[in-house]
Amino acid sequence: MSTPSGSAPVADGGILEYVASSQLPTPWAVFRIHAFAEPATGKEHVALTLGEPFGDAPVLARIHSECLTGDALFSQRCDCGAQLEAALQRIAEEGRGILLYLRQEGRGIGLLNKIRAYQLQDEGADTVEANERLGFPADMRRYDLCRPMLDHFGIRSVRLMTNNPRKERVLGDLGIAVAEHIPLQVNRNPYNEQYLRTKARKLGHRFKEYFGEAP
Ligand SMILES: [Zn+2]
Repeated sequence: MSTPSGSAPVADGGILEYVASSQLPTPWAVFRIHAFAEPATGKEHVALTLGEPFGDAPVLARIHSECLTGDALFSQRCDCGAQLEAALQRIAEEGRGILLYLRQEGRGIGLLNKIRAYQLQDEGADTVEANERLGFPADMRRYDLCRPMLDHFGIRSVRLMTNNPRKERVLGDLGIAVAEHIPLQVNRNPYNEQYLRTKARKLGHRFKEYFGEAP
């Protein structure tokens, strides 16, 4: 079978393979969706882009980890769905940018364990304690795939939409320059107030506009 053009592996070490891309109309813009396979894990990741080719200027970017409950099921327990929407809106407003959608549900512990952690949170644990009681670190997400994904689009410098300083450090370690960080403080509500405070206090996320310097 012949291989479609552009389907060659994009990653050093073959950790990621480009598969296909197509148009993806959304309420805010017609993006392109690019599909990638990660053979080692069997996971499938996507990138949404607008305004390619990108050139040398830092590219507006969001690195978003999958959250089925927040992204697709409207959960108010976290701020994921609102962040995803805000990021796509911002990219649409600027007419240029990229969103990497990484399939690492529940800060990397998977959907079933995330719901187990929610159950512990219903009984009084915070988001970090719940993960730890299940035997997981507070945050198991990995960002090493960002480099081959961004390489695929020729991106070496980003304006990163995030509240999470760890993401900036990790990208720096991967050789991606973070020229600017853009806060995404959206959807604070009574159901996620404690979750956001815990992320600020224990995971170092920036929520200064919500909680000031001391969450
Ligand atoms: Zn979420």
